[in-house]
Amino acid sequence: MTQENQTKEFDVLIVGAGFAGIYQLLKLRRLGLSAVILEKGDQIGGTWHWNIYPGARCDIPSLEYSYQFDEDLQQEWNWSEKYSGQPEILEYINHVADRYELRDGIQFEEEVISANFNESSAKWKITSSKGHYESRFCIFATGCLSIPNKPDFLGLENFKGQLLQTSSWPQEEQDFTGKRVAVIGTGSSAIQSIPLIAEQAEELYVFQRTPNYSIPSNNGPMDKVVEEDIKSRYSEFRKDNYLNGFGIAAISDEALITETDLDEVHVQLEENWQSAGLGFFGGYADVALDAEANEVAANFVRNKIKEIVKDPKTAQLLVPDYHIGGKRLCVDTGYFETFNKDNVFLIDLKEHPIQKITANTLESDKTYEVDTLIMATGFDAITGALTNIDISGRGNVKLKDQWEGGAKSYLGIGITNFPNLFTVTGPGSPSVLSNMMPSIEQHVNWITDCIEWMMKNDKTVIESTKTAEDDWMVLVNEIADMTVFTDTKSWYNGSNIEEKAKSFLPFIGVPVYTEMLDEIVSESYKGFIFDKAN
Ligand code: NAP
Repeated sequence: MTQENQTKEFDVLIVGAGFAGIYQLLKLRRLGLSAVILEKGDQIGGTWHWNIYPGARCDIPSLEYSYQFDEDLQQEWNWSEKYSGQPEILEYINHVADRYELRDGIQFEEEVISANFNESSAKWKITSSKGHYESRFCIFATGCLSIPNKPDFLGLENFKGQLLQTSSWPQEEQDFTGKRVAVIGTGSSAIQSIPLIAEQAEELYVFQRTPNYSIPSNNGPMDKVVEEDIKSRYSEFRKDNYLNGFGIAAISDEALITETDLDEVHVQLEENWQSAGLGFFGGYADVALDAEANEVAANFVRNKIKEIVKDPKTAQLLVPDYHIGGKRLCVDTGYFETFNKDNVFLIDLKEHPIQKITANTLESDKTYEVDTLIMATGFDAITGALTNIDISGRGNVKLKDQWEGGAKSYLGIGITNFPNLFTVTGPGSPSVLSNMMPSIEQHVNWITDCIEWMMKNDKTVIESTKTAEDDWMVLVNEIADMTVFTDTKSWYNGSNIEEKAKSFLPFIGVPVYTEMLDEIVSESYKGFIFDKAN
């Protein structure tokens, strides 16, 4: 038997070496289990390894977008800015991998092709691009935003210039000096990169289908007083953040815009605009729930855009007409200001869709000659990384088929028919509607505790029931339907990709979710069954 054909055995196989995967490896090792991570990329970092476009930066403050499992780690690490740039985040995750000696547990440049549950052995059989594995548990730490969305524009294959995608950016630094650059898309990735590309490019054409709300980051060097204060009460600070609806350190007051004097609301929104970034809604509980309140916050941002952008026609095109928050709020550094530059042009794809791409042009309202085309077109979000792998469970049922009408999961952790398979921040959990870092740690801790509980209680196989899963997704949608967000087209509900099933996938409300996770454990993992077929 050749080396490649030998089946390697582990207690747990983890897919993905981002923040979730490497923490999961650490926790399993501490439990005394054998575990391996298979990682498609050639280094750790997940999203922070792939998304290295100019301006890539986290829109959650650094002091929150970091691990909390080790008090020494969180005290010793010093972030240089309020919001960390991608290189510093990558440096941090590498530091963590070294500090806890995790590298020898990661197989790089090894893509998982298939994972099949063998009912007679109750083990997962995994085939990668390099070999075969067998494990009791399989944990997908594959991230919510991992599979690039590549719209099939007519003639794209004929384009002979430089073609880039923000979410799989080349490792080498790109120089756009003297170039005519086109960017398609105006989501967070575009909003972060456009101001920097505009500084270099001779001409920058921004092709916008839907404008976005964006709040200034007011980024800057780490405020040492703030850092000292938070570090002096770090564990309390982290606990408090789990009590905020989005798991962030924003004001969680229950005031209502509809019951507050509008002048007072504007003063608060101005303060939030100047300092809060993603916490822009902070102070008001009804922005997400009440169309009238939402309109007040939306109009505040619309007016800001009109104040910043000098050309009224361009400003009008940049003003969104849907509920603020319906699409993920963006946080920027000089995005709207960029449209005041003479070399930057905004093209409205709603009015003039892209007709054709040729060797060196994009045809929309007119023909644009370009040297570089950048696709900032987002992701097959939340489910894409899972449905792109050939995963089959009981009775050989394929996950892709099971989710054809819309993804369903219990807690965003377990999936009916897929025993001993866990997802970290899967569909039906707060995930992308929360600070990912505490949500990742919450899931990894929960999964590890569950495996430990099974070991102590002589259980071999865990699986969520169909009833629990169905009821859970009903709850996810009931909560979402209480908000004004569900009527907006967004990647939260699959509407950024035509052929994708449309259903709202994130669980809204970190505190309720956290309580429910605990409650389920205290009731001996209510909604899961153990050793069904064994
Ligand atoms: P995105 O928000 O999905 O934006 C994709 C953009 O491409 C949208 O403007 C979309 O228009 C456009 N688009 C897609 N298909 C198109 C087509 N066929 N024709 C024309 N336009 C098309 O993707 P993203 O900017 O990569 O961001 C995704 C998420 O990643 C963010 O919401 C955020 O959660 C995360 N992210 C975070 C950060 C950060 O921490 N700072 C940075 C980047 C990304 P429509 O709106 O009309 O669909």
